[in-house]
Amino acid sequence: MTPVVATHEEVQQRSSTAAPAAEEMRSKLKKDLRMGRKNQEGRINWVTSIAMVIFHALSIVALFFFSWKNVVAAAIMYFLAINVGVGMCYHRLLTHRGYRVSKWMEYFLTLCGTLSLEGGPIFWVATHRVHHQNSDQEGDPHTPHDGTWWSHAGWILSGRALHSETALLGHYAPDLTRDRVHVWLSKYHWLSVTIFGFIQMAIGAAVAPAGHRLSGAIGMCLWGTFLRVTLGLHATWLTNSVSHIWGGRRFETRDDSRNNWLVALFTGGEGWHNNHHAHPVSARHGLVWWEFDINYYGIWLMEKIGLAKRVQVAAWDPKDPKPAGV
Ligand SMILES: [Zn+2]
Ligand SMILES: [Zn+2]
Repeated sequence: MTPVVATHEEVQQRSSTAAPAAEEMRSKLKKDLRMGRKNQEGRINWVTSIAMVIFHALSIVALFFFSWKNVVAAAIMYFLAINVGVGMCYHRLLTHRGYRVSKWMEYFLTLCGTLSLEGGPIFWVATHRVHHQNSDQEGDPHTPHDGTWWSHAGWILSGRALHSETALLGHYAPDLTRDRVHVWLSKYHWLSVTIFGFIQMAIGAAVAPAGHRLSGAIGMCLWGTFLRVTLGLHATWLTNSVSHIWGGRRFETRDDSRNNWLVALFTGGEGWHNNHHAHPVSARHGLVWWEFDINYYGIWLMEKIGLAKRVQVAAWDPKDPKPAGV
């Protein structure tokens, strides 16, 4: 048998066609992943925009169904979605790996994250990693340099709908795209909100007095899902907008990040955003005793009862505060 050996010319020809193809793929990927207002072509993301209008309208309707039971339902769901899901999991665990938990715990915490309706873990983590890479520079998905409204909600409403482009976003979250559970949770991220909405309706009906079952069911769902999701979205968006505009700067970082106590109050500590940009891997964002950081207290508690390991805490000198790596 004659071995198949390519001639020198053939090899050269092959590599000269392969190299531009690879180069073309790289530049296409770079182009597809460009974030920031300049690269969004000003189109409106209709599915997200209509959903946002419905959620805001039903949040106003919820006010007519006020009851303390509904407030408690909304508070529990808010804590699970925004503190446990977004702050402790999507942000401090999945994006920055500020601490470790078992796989099962990671999946449970991620499920809580999907309750926020802020997209699945792959979308959230990839977008946030791009934010850290290009903070307040070109390519930042939500910098106030592109306008305050843009940094708050504009980037969600008129940005490209990358939620379902798992393969593309996966380049910024390969650790998650390798994991089938995270891929599944990303694809069906809206499912948990829907199921919990029905559970709230059942509980609302069950705890309502006879004759008021229907309004009890509707009221608890309006508070536990629609009003709660809307408030949670704005709390998270405030971190992107307000925490890059107003507040103190303890660390001289490359970006405009700020420490804003009001945002920290709504998000459970995410508002200590200048601390966070200076020490991104730190699971603790509030770095002095009065910088309350509910999400870190949760991680601290998990460590104490053996559920979290290798919790990273920023080491810094209060007399000479410097960002990590300086
Ligand atoms: Zn930031
Ligand atoms: Zn971050």
